[in-house]
Amino acid sequence: MKYLTEYRDRHATERLAEKIRTVVTQPWVLMEVCGGQTHSIVKNALEQLLPASVQLVHGPGCPVCVTAAEILDQAIALAQRPDVILCSFGDMLRVPGSQQSLQAVKATGADVRMLYSPMDALAIARANPQRKVVFLAVGFETTGPATALALAQARQWRLNNFFVLLSHFLVPPAISTIVEGLNNRVQGFLAPGHVCAVTGIEPYQQLVARYRVPMVITGFEPVDILQGILCCVAQLERGEARVENPYRRVANDQGNARAQSLVNDVFEVSDQHWRGIGSIANSGLRLSPSYQMFNAVALLDTALPAASPSECISGDILQGIKKPKQCPHFGHRCRPEHPLGAPMVSSEGACAAYFNYQ
Ligand code: SF4
Repeated sequence: MKYLTEYRDRHATERLAEKIRTVVTQPWVLMEVCGGQTHSIVKNALEQLLPASVQLVHGPGCPVCVTAAEILDQAIALAQRPDVILCSFGDMLRVPGSQQSLQAVKATGADVRMLYSPMDALAIARANPQRKVVFLAVGFETTGPATALALAQARQWRLNNFFVLLSHFLVPPAISTIVEGLNNRVQGFLAPGHVCAVTGIEPYQQLVARYRVPMVITGFEPVDILQGILCCVAQLERGEARVENPYRRVANDQGNARAQSLVNDVFEVSDQHWRGIGSIANSGLRLSPSYQMFNAVALLDTALPAASPSECISGDILQGIKKPKQCPHFGHRCRPEHPLGAPMVSSEGACAAYFNYQ
């Protein structure tokens, strides 16, 4: 059965690639927004199935890549306190801050724990009432509801030793920044299907109305990505710009109303700093006033200095201006075992995808 499914997928992939070659008459540059899509494209060598005139560039949708070095510095400062247990997702432990990583301070004795869900951090807090448990919460619209759920639960349980260090991002304002950038060359977007499963497609309709660029809601399997590319280039060839959703089996147009309501209750929209890109207005989440008692920043004694500039050119990579192999450090000074920048660490990072699969 497994082989039959693989055979069908390969057949569908080849048919879609053939259709794309038939439709395309001129050069187009498309951006896949999500790092998961980037990995699928590079791992399955999908670019080699496309006509040379269709270029894919990689977007900012990797939460580990865009979390600011300053947030990591704050997490490291908290982790070094003996009364703190610092918890986060696995990839975050290896990302360099301005000086070192959470993994490095763990090796010196700090209590840094990897977890798979924010709810695990609540369990650790309940089991360690004498310690402060700080969850470094990162992600896009997809992980926001899980962090919100943990916070709502912590409030219901009246936990007073659970805190969050927030680094949550919103995708549409980052797309605006890319389209408005002086160096922008992206003409159509493969929008992140899993994000739309939460938010619905309305934020992307607003982007289309504002910028007149096609937005195709796209999944992660090779057939999903080629279907997204086909829809996108077909729109461009016809001179159209609209939201198209061929990923309806996962993302309906309205999104998940319960998740949206939970996020709106716990968070409010704020400006956010994106690593390598800079500050983007209204592109992040902060705790709403009724959840401020869980704010881990209040535990920090003093403000930390701003992180110094890095040699990593992740900002150009994440905005589709350059590709990983155009970075002078790629594969030399920067490798997964000693990364200079976050895109070489994350399982969704573009540099890691090129290093591992090409
Ligand atoms: S190869 Fe390394 S230094 Fe260069 S952009 Fe990627 S992560 Fe940054």
